[in-house]
Amino acid sequence: MVSGLGYDFPPFRPPSEAESILLRATRGCPWNKCAFCVMYKGMRFSRRPLEDIKRDIVAARGIFGLRPTMFIGDSNSLVMKTEELLDVLRFAREVFPGLRRITSYARAKTILRKPLEDLVALREAGLTRLHVGLETGDDHLLKYMCKGITASEMAEAGRKAMEAGFELTEYVILGLGGKDRWERHASETANVLNKINPTFIRVRTLVPIPGTPLHERVVSGEFKVSSPLEVLKETRLLIERLKVSSWFLSDHVSNYLPVNGKLPDEKEDLLNFLGIHIDILESDPELGRTLLQPEHLRQRL
Ligand code: SF4
Repeated sequence: MVSGLGYDFPPFRPPSEAESILLRATRGCPWNKCAFCVMYKGMRFSRRPLEDIKRDIVAARGIFGLRPTMFIGDSNSLVMKTEELLDVLRFAREVFPGLRRITSYARAKTILRKPLEDLVALREAGLTRLHVGLETGDDHLLKYMCKGITASEMAEAGRKAMEAGFELTEYVILGLGGKDRWERHASETANVLNKINPTFIRVRTLVPIPGTPLHERVVSGEFKVSSPLEVLKETRLLIERLKVSSWFLSDHVSNYLPVNGKLPDEKEDLLNFLGIHIDILESDPELGRTLLQPEHLRQRL
């Protein structure tokens, strides 16, 4: 979105970047094929000229003031040529000398394509945090959802990002297996996360959005959306199987419950919390439903 000031804002940012300076280095998604995603549909991917990005960095001082964190959009800034992204990072830190964190979304395939030395150089230049959409570790589902990557490639990319020293978020979509594959989705996702041991595991819960291929499959009856009870059971199975030292965070409006904690220290607390809600939902569905995020709020994505 280009503002009246001529400043180009990224249309999406992670909730954890709510206080950050927002900068747009590319527009749209270079992949743009995932069956559940509507974020950049109808937008052709493009790279912004370096001089435009730098002009916006200067303008950002007036718009945001001197803040300590910056988010660079859109969906995969890492797809930029390493030298160009390094230039952007260095210039941003000159204009904002107090920056202590710069974050970007990144596609796992792009991480795999970048040499490790490039990733290290980017991290040393100030790009300290990456958010990657794992979504699931189930190969069948990755294909069904058109993610364009396998579970072993997801694991390899995640390990590479950790080796390069990034603070890494791996996103997981609860409910992505639907009624038919929730157990497989949970256990295979835990397998991939165990291989990566990311800094953060952030979960979102599936809301099929009209206009997406997945929504068409829901309407046709091909994909059966999990019930809240199944989603909670899936979350419990996922956490049970995790052997990581990551933060587990439900920092999204689509989630039924705020399941947040540090693993492994708070694993039992998280499982107890889920167990209590599962028991209530099974014994008294009406009461249990009142304890969960209401559907009308979940769907406000
Ligand atoms: S989920 Fe990410 S990679 Fe997939 S289409 Fe959406 S923005 Fe692109």
